[in-house]
Amino acid sequence: MAHILVVEDEPGIAMALEDDLALEGHRVALATDGIEASRLARSLPFDLILLDIMLPGKDGFDVCREIRRAGLTVPILMLTARVQETEKVLGLDLGADDYITKPYSHHELRARIRALLRRASVAPAQKHSFGDVEVDLVRAEARRAGRVVELTPLEFKLLAAFLQSPGRLLTRQLLLDAAWGKDVYVTERAVDNQVMNLRRKLEDDHTNPRFFSSVRGLGYRFDAGGVTDS
Ligand code: CA
Repeated sequence: MAHILVVEDEPGIAMALEDDLALEGHRVALATDGIEASRLARSLPFDLILLDIMLPGKDGFDVCREIRRAGLTVPILMLTARVQETEKVLGLDLGADDYITKPYSHHELRARIRALLRRASVAPAQKHSFGDVEVDLVRAEARRAGRVVELTPLEFKLLAAFLQSPGRLLTRQLLLDAAWGKDVYVTERAVDNQVMNLRRKLEDDHTNPRFFSSVRGLGYRFDAGGVTDS
């Protein structure tokens, strides 16, 4: 079934979760502190992450942010112990997909997990290529002619937004929301600068881009096949 990372520091709960998920046929990895969780989540491909909030080392909020900053789209189900935490999950743009309040019922947990896995399985492809560039969205890695291209988290998020909507006009505002988040104040000029960086790193000639073209006055469009401006 699925490969699930359980992040929980209370041994009793961790063991119950592991047993329950294994019974459902899932493969389970366990992290008992936030630092280990963040490292594991960013180095191995998981289908789902069950993330407790109160953790030693680094709390679940920070772990969730780090996973999203790395460009990973893995579904994250937060485990919250208190009402205040639930509000935080709802109120902050953390990038978690859902939350469940402890003590939870196994029935509810299973249902949430199934729903998240179903949603993820109809998600768009995670591997893309154009020209001599290959991008793996799960690993948050871009390669050009086989060599890793260093992209900042912002550049990677922008790239992911382009790859997920090939051939479509993406307005600066839409790109801004996708890369910076909705409640951040950034000028549209910042989008232009980041797209310029992507062109420099991924196009043969950034002054005459094939893949990331400008749509005058509106935004940008990505074409995997490459188009040249006429
Ligand atoms: Ca805990």
